[in-house]
Amino acid sequence: MLPINQTVEHLKPSGIRKYFDLASSMEGVISLGVGEPDFDTPWHICNAAVESFHEGRTHYTANRGLLTLREQIARYTKERFDLDYDPEKEILVTVGGSEGVDLAFRTLINPGDEVIVLDPNYVAYEPAILMAGGKPVYITLTQDNDFKLLPEDLAKALTPKTKAIMLNFPSNPTGGTMGYEDYAKLVPIFKESGIYIISDEIYAELTFDGGQFVSPASFDEIKEQVIIINGFSKAFAMTGWRLGYLLANPTLSKMMTKVHQFIIMSAPTSAQIAAIEALQNGIPDLLAMRKEYEQRRNLICARLNRMGLKTNVPKGTFYVFPNITSTGLTSDEFCVQLLESKKVAIVPGTAFGEHGEGHCRISYATSMDNIKEAMDRIEEFLTELKAKQQAELEASVEEIAQEVLTLVEEL
Ligand code: PMP
Repeated sequence: MLPINQTVEHLKPSGIRKYFDLASSMEGVISLGVGEPDFDTPWHICNAAVESFHEGRTHYTANRGLLTLREQIARYTKERFDLDYDPEKEILVTVGGSEGVDLAFRTLINPGDEVIVLDPNYVAYEPAILMAGGKPVYITLTQDNDFKLLPEDLAKALTPKTKAIMLNFPSNPTGGTMGYEDYAKLVPIFKESGIYIISDEIYAELTFDGGQFVSPASFDEIKEQVIIINGFSKAFAMTGWRLGYLLANPTLSKMMTKVHQFIIMSAPTSAQIAAIEALQNGIPDLLAMRKEYEQRRNLICARLNRMGLKTNVPKGTFYVFPNITSTGLTSDEFCVQLLESKKVAIVPGTAFGEHGEGHCRISYATSMDNIKEAMDRIEEFLTELKAKQQAELEASVEEIAQEVLTLVEEL
């Protein structure tokens, strides 16, 4: 067989899969590993698609997506986030946020261009950058800084080859967020460097504690440099519909539409019609789901911290990122042992980058009952682990004492 594309051949498989494969081969597993809402899509949204089938709306749409949908996206984006985008020239409907990630990189990157990525980060960015011929350059985010991007780290990572930075706040996997003040410190650096800012805002609606989501595009000085990736998967529990959108200045939007036109044509028509219904009448559903996530977050963070796993209380997403270093185990050991002994599936932080070591990602996109049961099991696991480590310690102390005694006797 002739060799295939080298970049594809060398892509590492997602570090999440291993745990799902292991978990799916076992009975009675509680999975806190998934990255999608446990809620089904609200029925009125599904019904809009069903009705569209009756009306024979089974054809392609415009490449950019139905104009009515783009108008709704523009209205929604203005109302919810106070951002202005022109439905005719600055909005492109995509196959999920996932296509948005791919289009942004394919459109921006020339071979060898550097793209700054935050570590830990969502698993799809690095492969998308590599497949577009770019070079990922990492900035480490830390728990002590609440997993925020700091201006000094940004300044250090920039080189003449930097083309773009990939942001994702609220963040998968850390749950970290960036507020107005946090971005304000970065804006002069972004402005001066002129780099593109790709902002994956898929979790924007899952911002908690009454906080207002802030996009880097809220800053007029840099808005032209920003490409926003958003979608319906998380906010409206529509992962299976595969629908997202890109917001960008007219030139970038036109170029991304060119790529989209050749690889996709147009996003699924029935999903676009469902999305119109979601934007027109789905906000109450979204708010109800958000409230439920927030309650789950409160419970899970309180329980984990009480068990001694230092966990920041995230202001967004449906993930927590506890620190497991107090157990003396690596993230991978922690997850494997927890799954094997207590049948709770979570994901090691290393699946999201080298600096995810010492952490695990726990998703709370599952029922409160499942969360409570999983927390009980994790607590049992920690108690047993501590007892085992204590027994091992005592045994080795005993062994050393014996050796010393023997030595003394020999003397
Ligand atoms: N970005 C992030 C940060 C995600 O977590 C996900 C889904 N896990 C996506 C993008 C992709 O979402 P979509 O279903 O819209 O393709």
